Amino acid sequence: MTYAERRAALEAIAVEVRGCTRCKLASSRTNAVPGEGSPDTEVVFVGEGPGMNEDRQGRPFVGRAGGVLMELLGSVEWRREDVFITNVVKCRPPGNRDPEPDEIAACAPYLRRQLDVLDPALVVTLGRYSLGTFMPGTRISQVHGMVRPVDPATGAADATVLALYHPAAADRSPDVKRQSFEDIGRAPSALLEARARRAAARSSAASTGEDLVPVMVAPPGATSELPVADLAIADLAADAAISDDAIDRPTEDATATDLTIF
Ligand code: URA
Ligand code: SF4
Repeated sequence: MTYAERRAALEAIAVEVRGCTRCKLASSRTNAVPGEGSPDTEVVFVGEGPGMNEDRQGRPFVGRAGGVLMELLGSVEWRREDVFITNVVKCRPPGNRDPEPDEIAACAPYLRRQLDVLDPALVVTLGRYSLGTFMPGTRISQVHGMVRPVDPATGAADATVLALYHPAAADRSPDVKRQSFEDIGRAPSALLEARARRAAARSSAASTGEDLVPVMVAPPGATSELPVADLAIADLAADAAISDDAIDRPTEDATATDLTIF
């Protein structure tokens, strides 16, 4: 898929999420939070579900937990706009209660489709609900900081998962926070390993003539329903991506307008 095709497919999913009524969280939300980031990214962060600030703004990880996540990203010199950030459930559970099994099941197809489009090399789980999707049957206290291959049934066809504590847990406990910095420190090397594994899989597939690449097509006409503002923001991100090689691109003053908001 080209950049433009991935962007359009992600926008089409976001449009569906914003209008979704597939579970009871629809009735209490202010805004659904589809997720945001680079359509070109190799890395997807998956949290639990929107909190109060996310529900108000329609964007993931913009509150306190988001601040911690940005600190963690910064520690490995990754930027918000270079990754994709989303959640297991796209609407806020009232009072920040845990998402319920029927809600997680109802919302799962959206994450699966986002992963199908993005085809990330690395998925970073944030907290136990996300862990439950990518390392079912494990406990966060035992597997944080660890990697393993992702089941392609998740939508991520050929990815590695790295498990992290939820940033809100890190915010509450200095020990968990210290551990989280150590855990995310493994992300760059996990990405290099994942890349190498994917490259090896591709070249062996090419030599046997196997077609490994899943293709997803956006529903026709879906993007034309997007608010103009979103398209404008997406275009800015597309321009940024084209000039990605420019080493003098400002990083310090990156703002929300640099992001593709889905
Ligand atoms: N916590 C989450 O799990 N996700 C968000 O988007 C914000 C806070
Ligand atoms: Fe739809 Fe997911 Fe929101 Fe439930 S949480 S209403 S399934 S988008």
